Amino acid sequence: MPNLAQIEHNPPTYDNGVGLYLHVPFCQTKCPYCDFNTYAGIEDQIPAYLRALKRELEGWGELLSHPPVRTIFFGGGTPSYLPVGDISEIQSTIRASFGIVDAVEITMECNPGDVSLENAKAWLGSGINRISMGVQSFDDGLLKLLGRRHTAIEAKQAFSTLRSAGFRNLSIDLIYGLPYQTVEQWSDTLDETIALDAEHISLYGLQIEQRTPLAVDVEAGKYPVPDDDLAADMYEEAQRRLGANGFEQYEISNWAKQGQKSQHNLLYWLNEPYLGVGPGAHSWIDGQRFANLKSPRRYVDIVNDDYEANGSNPVASMQTPVGPVEQVEETTPAVDIAETMMMGMRLNGGVAHKRFEKRFGRQINDVFPQELKRLLKLGLIEVTDDAVLLSERGRLLGNEVFAEFIG
Ligand code: SF4
Repeated sequence: MPNLAQIEHNPPTYDNGVGLYLHVPFCQTKCPYCDFNTYAGIEDQIPAYLRALKRELEGWGELLSHPPVRTIFFGGGTPSYLPVGDISEIQSTIRASFGIVDAVEITMECNPGDVSLENAKAWLGSGINRISMGVQSFDDGLLKLLGRRHTAIEAKQAFSTLRSAGFRNLSIDLIYGLPYQTVEQWSDTLDETIALDAEHISLYGLQIEQRTPLAVDVEAGKYPVPDDDLAADMYEEAQRRLGANGFEQYEISNWAKQGQKSQHNLLYWLNEPYLGVGPGAHSWIDGQRFANLKSPRRYVDIVNDDYEANGSNPVASMQTPVGPVEQVEETTPAVDIAETMMMGMRLNGGVAHKRFEKRFGRQINDVFPQELKRLLKLGLIEVTDDAVLLSERGRLLGNEVFAEFIG
């Protein structure tokens, strides 16, 4: 158990800026492995969603007195599936409702199937300066198994179209540990990815999420259960190959060229404030954690009805579940400490002693003496003068380490 005596609690304020996450719950097709809060076939809700999202943004801007925004992230779902004009309108609303810092990073998740030169130029013109593209694999057979709507060639073409349009900060997402995937196939996908010379790469091991069509197929024996050892071999192969090709690993699943780390995701890992808008989006701001209701239909109805009925701000509080906010979690120092450790340990640099002390008024060593001792003995962490961080072995067994910090 952590020793929480005399803990101070100084959650970061939003005076220095927040990260803004916008959840787009639309996809053209639903991939069979995906359990995100996203839906195919509800495009008729896009106009009402756009109205609600803009109202929610204006509402938060007013409630929080137009705080500065450090990063903006359009995630989902498939934001690139929205009409390009909608992305511009949302950006205008953000600019009118929040302060925007000069070097703001504005990322949009993108499906290769949505990229055309016209769209790419319009995205860039609207202010988006970073694209995170869900490529997942450069093997057409595996793309089919994943239910993706693009081929390997289309993904490569989309990447070069984004470059021609002028994007200088591109990230590629890949998935490994797929049914039937061999290390050779994975190696080929890494070759293709390295050849594209992206600024950033995210790698995710396939998780079979309950109640997804893929889980049903695995259970029925149509596909084999993913082999953890093989997935670990693929991860190690990626570490070797990306490291040898100019990428620095800075988080368990993320690699970047120099100066190109995802600033938005760093906010999450450093447990800094962020505001989420849209259905199911989570927020952590001003010492409060809260989440919007998940259903796009209910979200749209509640936000638009409130506004249309009496013109009032649909977001009225961070402390109570009103308007689109459905869950509010009380944040105790114990929760904040656990989150700070769990998220921070994902970073290669680990949790910095100085940062921890500034936030909690105590040293990591004093708060978690037994936990650190145990993890050091198991060879899962290292403790340096600067930080507590995962060892090479710990990176493969991250969940075991994180569990130690939950009181
Ligand atoms: S495109 Fe992405 S968000 Fe949409 S269903 Fe597929 S994996 Fe999920």
